[in-house]
This record gives sequence, C-alpha cells and structure tokens, in this order.
Amino acid sequence: MYKIVVDPDKCVGDEECIEVCPVNVLQLQNGRAFPVRKDDCIGCESCIQVCDYIAITVTEV
Ligand code: SF4
Repeated sequence: MYKIVVDPDKCVGDEECIEVCPVNVLQLQNGRAFPVRKDDCIGCESCIQVCDYIAITVTEV
C-alpha cells in the first residue's frame, strides 16, 4: 500500500498530476490537487515526476 501526500503550500493546481495518474487518485479541490482516492494509489510515482513544484510525496506503507 502507498501513502500519497500533496503539500497544499507547494501545489499550484496546474493539474499535471491529475492528468497523469493512471488510476485517478487525484482531483482538484479548492485550486489544489487532493488525493480523493488515495487507497487506489499503485505507487507509480508518475505524479511526482510531472510536478515541477515538488509538492507530492509517495511512500510505501
Ligand atoms: S503514485 Fe501513481 S498511482 Fe499514485 S497518485 Fe501518483 S500517479 Fe497516481
């Protein structure tokens, strides 16, 4: 299982991670990416790779 965290202070809401996630974990909420389906995360780290703001961390738990 993976734990995804988006730092709302770093996220600018450009939706890059939302578009790249293969299992639709993320959604825009109040102008920031939010992991609405965090339990579905498969740990591919695609969201981390596309984030220019280093706002996302994914850890195996
Ligand atoms: S690590 Fe992969 S599956 Fe998990 S939220 Fe990021 S893009 Fe989606």
